[in-house]
Amino acid sequence: MNKEILKKYANLIVRTGVNVQPGQKCIVVVDTDQAELAGYVVEEAYKAGALSVRVEWQNSQIDRLHYQYGDVDEMSTVYPWQEAKQKQQAEELPCMIHIMSDDPDALKGVDAKKMAEVRKRRFPILKPYRDAMENKYQWVIVAAAGEKWAKKLFPEASAEEAVEKLWAAILSCIHMGDGSQEAALSCDPIGAWEEHNKRFTEKCQWLNTMGFERLRYKSSNGTDFEVGLIPTAQWMGGGEYSLQNIFYNPNMPTEEIFTSPMKGQAEGVLVSTKPLSYQGQLIENFSIRFHEGRAVEVHAEKGEELLKEMIQMDETAGYLGEVALVPKESPINRSGILFYNTLFDENASCHVALGRGFTNVLENFENMTQEETIRVGINDSMIHADFMVGAEDLQITGITKDGREVPVFENGTWAKNE
Ligand code: ZN
Repeated sequence: MNKEILKKYANLIVRTGVNVQPGQKCIVVVDTDQAELAGYVVEEAYKAGALSVRVEWQNSQIDRLHYQYGDVDEMSTVYPWQEAKQKQQAEELPCMIHIMSDDPDALKGVDAKKMAEVRKRRFPILKPYRDAMENKYQWVIVAAAGEKWAKKLFPEASAEEAVEKLWAAILSCIHMGDGSQEAALSCDPIGAWEEHNKRFTEKCQWLNTMGFERLRYKSSNGTDFEVGLIPTAQWMGGGEYSLQNIFYNPNMPTEEIFTSPMKGQAEGVLVSTKPLSYQGQLIENFSIRFHEGRAVEVHAEKGEELLKEMIQMDETAGYLGEVALVPKESPINRSGILFYNTLFDENASCHVALGRGFTNVLENFENMTQEETIRVGINDSMIHADFMVGAEDLQITGITKDGREVPVFENGTWAKNE
């Protein structure tokens, strides 16, 4: 990729994405194959006034080896130094920049039970630190075109061409032009994101004013589903404010307006419209039936065992944590590419997520204990797994407190009734 474009991208990540402030510490989590971009991000972060920028390198080939040869007890042990690191992070609240470029099949064939076991045992020890940090710090997840990921998407192309094609797709999805180098070099992505955020604000305001009690989903693929909403929960989308009142954009791309639904109120069947990539493996052509809020029946043409494993990760993994609205005109959907990566695929389509909800959809959440947010109806779980239900003909109807039915989505996009 052209160096100037990479630098411009790094600038967007640091300024519009995580919005590093003078004196803040930063952590960049990145795969070993993206050293060039990581270097530019470090430079931009320092230029923005970062006090320090630490890079944590990842490599899924090595992760694979750990799961292949590693001892479960050893891998599940959280050593004091690891805990101390989390504790320090929870106190310092550094800006987190995650750059994803990994092969979606990186962990294919790895023993799913072993992975789940390690995660289940480490999770409770690290959870208090994660909870302590939640909603308090700035973070961003962005993508870079890794070679194996690119080859999966464009198997016919040479490795080099595939990487260029994936870069073009990434750039057009994050409002850096239309995918061409010229457009990427001449565009104003920071301005484009300001516009983008304005549109989100309008949609959120409409939904929040309507105050729907329930949403009903129907499409010809078999989706027939209703979900309850939390009266005090807001719809959110685009950028967010940290508790220090710093505006940042946690996902790039992002096209979703979302909230957390009422735990315990989901009935009927949701049919997937795109594969779900979970822990480096794919679940395809699946449906989930809900009763009293919980996933009670799942079918999948591929990955059914993994899906069952997923909804049983803990007692609340079968409940919903998110409902999100994405019109089919989203640039990710228009690209026609299945990215096998949630950051992109969830922004191509209406989706829901199993597992953990978002406490920050509640006003005054920062003064609530976790028990209180759960009592209001926000699910908590060790997983948060998005799956796509945005069929071409998806109808979503909002039902108000007084029983009025208002079209929200018609034929896969925003209904015109505002
Ligand atoms: Zn989402």
